[in-house]
Amino acid sequence: MAHIVIMGAGIGGMPAAYELRAKLDASHRITVVNATDYFQFVPSNPWVAVGWRKRDDVILPVKPYLEKKGIQFIASRVDKIDAAGKTLTLANEEMLAYDYLIITTGPKLAFDEVPGAGPMGGFTHSICSVDHAEQTWAAYQEFLKNPGPVIIGAMPGASCFGPAYEFAFILDADLRKRKLRHKVPITFVTSEPYIGHLGLGGVGDSKSMLESDFRNHDIKWVTNAKTTQVEDGMLHTSELNAKGEVEKEHLLPFTFAMMLPAFRGVDAVAGVEGLCNPRGFVQIDAHQRSKAFESIFSAGVCVAIPPVEATPVPTGAPKTGYMIETMVTAIVQNIVADIAGKPATAKGSWNAICLADMGDTGAAFVALPQIPPRNVNWFKKGKWVHLAKIAFEKYFIHKMKAGTSEPIYEKYVLKALGIERLEPPADKP
Ligand SMILES: Cc1cc2nc3c(=O)[nH]c(=O)nc-3n(C[C@H](O)[C@H](O)[C@H](O)COP(=O)(O)OP(=O)(O)OC[C@H]3O[C@@H](n4cnc5c(N)ncnc54)[C@H](O)[C@@H]3O)c2cc1C
Repeated sequence: MAHIVIMGAGIGGMPAAYELRAKLDASHRITVVNATDYFQFVPSNPWVAVGWRKRDDVILPVKPYLEKKGIQFIASRVDKIDAAGKTLTLANEEMLAYDYLIITTGPKLAFDEVPGAGPMGGFTHSICSVDHAEQTWAAYQEFLKNPGPVIIGAMPGASCFGPAYEFAFILDADLRKRKLRHKVPITFVTSEPYIGHLGLGGVGDSKSMLESDFRNHDIKWVTNAKTTQVEDGMLHTSELNAKGEVEKEHLLPFTFAMMLPAFRGVDAVAGVEGLCNPRGFVQIDAHQRSKAFESIFSAGVCVAIPPVEATPVPTGAPKTGYMIETMVTAIVQNIVADIAGKPATAKGSWNAICLADMGDTGAAFVALPQIPPRNVNWFKKGKWVHLAKIAFEKYFIHKMKAGTSEPIYEKYVLKALGIERLEPPADKP
């Protein structure tokens, strides 16, 4: 009988555990190992950073919910994967053998790539984890006592731009509510070649719509921004032209800054010889299976996907919720098939669907496939997206408590957006 170990209890790992449990009988063991003893709903972290959510609204203890479903849980970081010997070494010194390993470890936040960046000894804040978002909320409350210029954006090599836009609009909305917006010049500084690129080469009319929204919300911007250094209260950015030459050097003063970092793979995963690309992302085939190790599957932010296009300042392609959900479903189907001695042929849907909150309204986009030209390519705005995002948060957290295995995007979001199931293009990845 098989033992399946899932590394990482996040947006990918938790649904993977529940879906597997629903498909495999009790003779097969499922174990989830996570660096913390809680699950966090990462997409809500921008709200935590402005006090619109509290920590306890967006996290839940994992153990009781998984154990109720007959899934074992170990709260410990995995420090080493012996891929040939199919064994994990945990930080608590336990060794854990597996037949199948599902890697859903999300990103390592590469603040170290820009001197002075990040919340650990640097000068920019982060919304990437609930811990960071709480620190940002504390700093924001201090900032409100003596407001000044704000910088929000994304560092060179970043791939996850949506939350930077969300945070800019959320902060703008929060400051307006507090009647302090007039004291806060906001500049959006991004490695994207233009506003609304989103690591996707734009989606529908995202460029003009987001530029227009920035203008309407008095948010200035610098694109093609290669941020090179951050000092206390000063961001150093080289603005590049299309040839990749420096067009202008910017010295941007700030009182409060939040910059999304580039991502890499986490150490335990990046350290396995032959498993990953140079940035530590797991190299997988069209069936989410490691190209090097048959027993390893992977989904979520930790997998390697190519950038949509070359940009003057490097950018990556985002890995968002729908894509992650379908990657997980494909892994579950493939492991179940493999155990039964059948070929593992299921594929994820390499498409981007995103609901981005903008404080009191929101923007939704669908990019199918990720690389243009596309079969579906739209970007729409409205209060309904803000409400849909709140409903999505509530439902996802409910699902993590209830242990249900139904895919949320497939069942609800696609229907709400009026979209048929998005089949993976035949030639992807
Ligand atoms: C701030 C933010 C907002 C986002 N908002 C959206 C959104 O609105 N919509 C959307 O579609 N996408 C969004 N994304 C993108 C994406 O959906 C999320 O990043 C999502 O959390 C990725 O899921 P994951 O399972 O890959 O990683 P995660 O959810 O980050 O889970 C990874 C888990 O692995 C654990 N882990 C890491 N290393 C180890 C180790 N060595 N051993 C054991 N456990 C380990 C971590 O503790 C964590 O629990 C957002 C991303 C960010 C950063």
